[in-house]
Amino acid sequence: MQWENLTATDFAAAVKETGVCVLSLGVLEKHSEHLPLGTDALVGHRLACLAAEKEPAVVFPLFYFGQIYEARAFPGAFTLRPTLLLDLLQSVLDEIGRNGFKKIILYNAHGGNYHLLRFLAQAQLWEQKPYTLYIPTRVMSEAGEREWEALRDTDFGGHACEEETSMVLGTYPELVKMERVPQAAARPLGRMGDLPGTYNGIWWYADYPDHYAGEAAPATPAKGAVIVRLMADYLAQYIAAVKADTILPGLTEEFFRRAGGQE
Ligand SMILES: [Zn+2]
Repeated sequence: MQWENLTATDFAAAVKETGVCVLSLGVLEKHSEHLPLGTDALVGHRLACLAAEKEPAVVFPLFYFGQIYEARAFPGAFTLRPTLLLDLLQSVLDEIGRNGFKKIILYNAHGGNYHLLRFLAQAQLWEQKPYTLYIPTRVMSEAGEREWEALRDTDFGGHACEEETSMVLGTYPELVKMERVPQAAARPLGRMGDLPGTYNGIWWYADYPDHYAGEAAPATPAKGAVIVRLMADYLAQYIAAVKADTILPGLTEEFFRRAGGQE
């Protein structure tokens, strides 16, 4: 069920029936020459909607705000001040919780959100909330991964690659411009290579200055259909597991009882 498509009365019933809201996170960023800026948000939201048809949950509307500072060198990237971004995400979670959801799934569709979301998760221990946050750490089952590995032609990628391009072909084929796929594959340039092991925010740009990582040419709609099925099935199972979960709410309750000094 899509939040924005429900009437107020049906929304209240959906909150009661499911108890779970799925917030899919994408960004606006360049995806090589052939995929739309909104790829992550569009695909993640579609997957969430497909999963919620199999295992009922309410899906939050398209959400485009996340960590994507490394794409600011390219047209169309949309970023927010770092502190505002964190405030925004927490406010969105709180407002979803105020609407009655006891469980919120953050379904990340953008690799660059990795550290942000882990920090956001830790920040939930700052203050007790009326909801529990769940961030899935995989996107398909192990069997699903094996199925996809057997099907794919490339063994590298990460951005606008065979996998991601197939995913857009499997969801929004009208937005893919296969004739614009670059001739050359994009492998990491290793431009930070002479430094002793170092983390710096420029690392992704250093490796992939054209915002392309992989080789999109072997992408097909058929491959996309397989990935979309595997990912939507996995997310549906994950939603069911979240509904059944009593462990995280129980541990969180215990934690805040002790943090509040009542024990
Ligand atoms: Zn992407």
